[in-house]
Amino acid sequence: MFELQDIAKRYGSVVALDGVDLHIDSAATTALIGPSGAGKSTVLRMLIGLDWPDRGVVRFDGEPLRRERLLEQRRRIGYVIQEGGLFPHLTAADNVALVARVLGWPAAKIEERSRELAQLCALPDGLLQRYPAELSGGQRQRVGLVRALMLDPPVLLLDEPLGALDPVIRHELQAQMRELFATLGKTVVLVTHDVAEAAWLADTLVLLRAGRIVQQGSARELVESP
Ligand code: ADP
Ligand code: ADP
Repeated sequence: MFELQDIAKRYGSVVALDGVDLHIDSAATTALIGPSGAGKSTVLRMLIGLDWPDRGVVRFDGEPLRRERLLEQRRRIGYVIQEGGLFPHLTAADNVALVARVLGWPAAKIEERSRELAQLCALPDGLLQRYPAELSGGQRQRVGLVRALMLDPPVLLLDEPLGALDPVIRHELQAQMRELFATLGKTVVLVTHDVAEAAWLADTLVLLRAGRIVQQGSARELVESP
C-alpha cells in the first residue's frame, strides 16, 4: 500500500530520517515504535504529505505522492492524532461531518453514517452533540476515529492514538481498536512508544532509532531475534 524508498529528512541541523526503506502491506496493521525523537511521526506525516522528504520517494498504491494530487490522495487516507485533533469550536457531530459537507453529501446521509460509525466505535448516543471540551480523552479519541472513517478510506494513520489516556481507559480502547481493525480490514499504520500496545494491535512492528529502521517483523519475530 505504501512504499518508502531511501527517505531522508532534516529539520535544520536535526536529522529526523536517515535513509528509511519501508514497505507497508495493505489490509494489515503496522506499528511504528521506538523512543521519542526516533522519527516515527515524521514517517507518518510523510505518508499523507504533511511533510516531504529531502531525498527519496513515497509511493501510495504504486504512485508517488504528489503535491498536485494530494487532496485526491488524502481522501483515501484517514488520519487521527492524539485525542482526535478535533476543532474545539465545533461540536463532535460537526467535526465528524465537516469533510462530507464540503463534498456535498446530503444531511440525512451524513447523519446516518455518523450514527453508524459512532456505534462501531462504541461512542454512546448523544455524545456527538457535545463540544470536544465536554468529552473525555477516550471519547475525543473515538470521535477522531469516527471523523477519519467518514469517507470510508482504505487507509488509517494513527499517531499515538491512545497517547494521553489513563491506563484503564487505554486498555479498554486497545481492545476495542483491535476488534475494530479486524472488522474493517483496512490498512492501518499507527505510531506508539508503547511496545506492548504495538504487539497487541499490529501484525508488523517497525522499530526506529535515530531516524533509521533497526528492526522489523511480527512481535514474535522481534522477541526471538537477538
Ligand atoms: P517521534 O515521533 O519518533 O518522537 P519525530 O518524527 O516527531 O519523532 O521527530 C524526529 C526528529 O525530528 C526529532 O528530533 C524531532 O525533534 C525532529 N522534528 C520533527 N518534526 C520537526 C519539525 N517540524 N521541526 C523541527 N524538528 C522536527
Ligand atoms: P506541518 O506538519 O503542518 O507541515 P510542521 O510542524 O511540520 O507543520 O511545521 C512546518 C515547518 O515548520 C517544518 O517543515 C519545519 O521546517 C518548521 N518547523 C516546525 N517546528 C519547528 C521546530 N520546532 N524547529 C524548527 N523548525 C520547525
